[in-house]
Formats: sequence, structure tokens, C-alpha cells
Amino acid sequence: MNCIFCDIIARKAYAEILFETNEIISFLDIRPVNYGHTLIIPKYHYQNFLDVPKAELEKLIVTTQFLTDALFESLEPDGFNIFANNGTAAGQTVFHFHFHVIPRFDDDDFKFRLNLKTYSNNTMKNYADKIRLVISKSKRLKNEL
Ligand code: AMP
Ligand code: ZN
Repeated sequence: MNCIFCDIIARKAYAEILFETNEIISFLDIRPVNYGHTLIIPKYHYQNFLDVPKAELEKLIVTTQFLTDALFESLEPDGFNIFANNGTAAGQTVFHFHFHVIPRFDDDDFKFRLNLKTYSNNTMKNYADKIRLVISKSKRLKNEL
């Protein structure tokens, strides 16, 4: 499989690695939105968020908080964005799941402001009903939350 992140994990490709455990690796994004833009990645090649098993996801999110804290202390940003792109439609370009953490500053000359829609009539309730129906039938996490 051709995956740049797997190559970085295997030390077949260069990266500025920040942190590593048996299951997780973090390095600087090579094309940063802002300097210090960091990626946090499970070492196993999961394609997207839904594929990551719960135990690994928990470690991944805790590690993301730990590294965001380190970015906050070292780079002293005014804020930060955390996100993950999943699927081509969402802008994913490397199909090995990862969280992005981007340090943000009050004088940044850009915002993540999208073209926002409005709901009309009952559409908002209809969307909520559709999602709630699946949630109510789901056995996933039923006794864990
Ligand atoms: P996404 O578009 O959400 O899949 O994010 C993939 C990210 O990986 C992009 O922001 C790229 O800049 C970054 N990226 C791609 N190749 C490398 C690399 N060799 N080292 C570090 N980051 C990379
Ligand atoms: Zn991979």
C-alpha cells in the first residue's frame, strides 16, 4: 500500500516527529496552515475516523489534548483549531486517519468561515429525526456513556 504516513512511521520518509508511542505518532504538517500545524496519527493504517477502534481512539484524543497543550505552551497561540477530514468530499488527501491541530493567532489573515446554509420549514426537525432514529436503534456504546 502506498501511504506517506506509513512511510514516515517506518522511517522511509522524512518528518519532524514530535512525539511517539507504540500506537501513536505525531509530526509537523509539511504544508502548514500556520507554523507548528501538527498531525496526530494512529500508527495502524485506519482509513478514517469510523475505522479507529474505541480503545485507540481514546488514546488518540487524549494524546491530541496533550500535544495541543504543548503547542499552547511552546508557541503561545491565541487559539487553535482541531479537525479531521474524512473522505474526498471532506477534503481528505492522505487516507490514513489523522487529527490536525492548528495554532491560531488574533492577527491571522484568514478564518475557517464557510458558506453557511439555513434550514427552512421543518427541514431541521426532519434531519434531527432521521439521525435520532439511528441513534435510538444503535447498540454501539449503549451502556458506556
Ligand atoms: P488531509 O488533507 O486532511 O488528508 O491532510 C493531509 C495532510 O498531510 C496535509 O495537510 C498535508 O500537508 C500533510 N502531508 C502530506 N505529506 C506529508 C509529509 N510527507 N509530511 C508531513 N505532512 C504531510
Ligand atoms: Zn498509512
